[in-house]
Amino acid sequence: MAKILKNMFSLEGIDGSGKTTQIPLIKESLERTGFTVQVFKNPSTSLLGEFIRKNVRTFDPWLRNKLFILDMQATLMGQRKNFDPSIVLLWDRYIDSFYASNPEMTLEETVSIVSEMPVPVKTFWLDVEPTVVLTQRKDATNEHSDSKWLTLKQQRYNELLQKNPQRIIRVNGQQSIGAVTRQITDEIIRTMRSKTGP
Ligand code: ADP
Repeated sequence: MAKILKNMFSLEGIDGSGKTTQIPLIKESLERTGFTVQVFKNPSTSLLGEFIRKNVRTFDPWLRNKLFILDMQATLMGQRKNFDPSIVLLWDRYIDSFYASNPEMTLEETVSIVSEMPVPVKTFWLDVEPTVVLTQRKDATNEHSDSKWLTLKQQRYNELLQKNPQRIIRVNGQQSIGAVTRQITDEIIRTMRSKTGP
């Protein structure tokens, strides 16, 4: 069984759901409360991460998955303070993205691929309707973001939520930016302060 890290959190959601907007706001808000926050991006900002970002469309699924895992493991290993339980570790997309973004993979295959990775104590799924992204948040879309693809991703996140109701929290990403930040920050603080964990 993969290890649950009680100070690790992740944000997930389709393109345009607000992850990039929320990460620095949540970080600031937690820091104001006195927490130290370490943010991780997937793919990372390292050379390997940049290589993946640039070439992701050219890899076959097997190579893509291996490189993503390697990049995430390298990111975690590179952080010495990583397992200091007082530091909030916050991922901008993490293990759930494997399933949501790889329509050719089954849930079982995904679980076996990510089994080496530590599991976040809470994952926030920013749920936004694809139609909202495509009409109101066009800057976050690219040539691959069509309604069918975003809807499929959203459905796969929903499936993950059904399978992991303890860990994954659905957040209505169509609320105001401030309301989303507050909801996620409050939950992280609550989790960090609870001695017995979830
Ligand atoms: P992601 O990183 O998930 O792709 P972004 O954070 O880049 O999404 O957000 C995409 C666009 O949507 C940006 O223009 C951002 O300002 C806008 N946006 C983000 N959150 C909200 C929100 N709660 N309400 C309205 N617009 C939002």
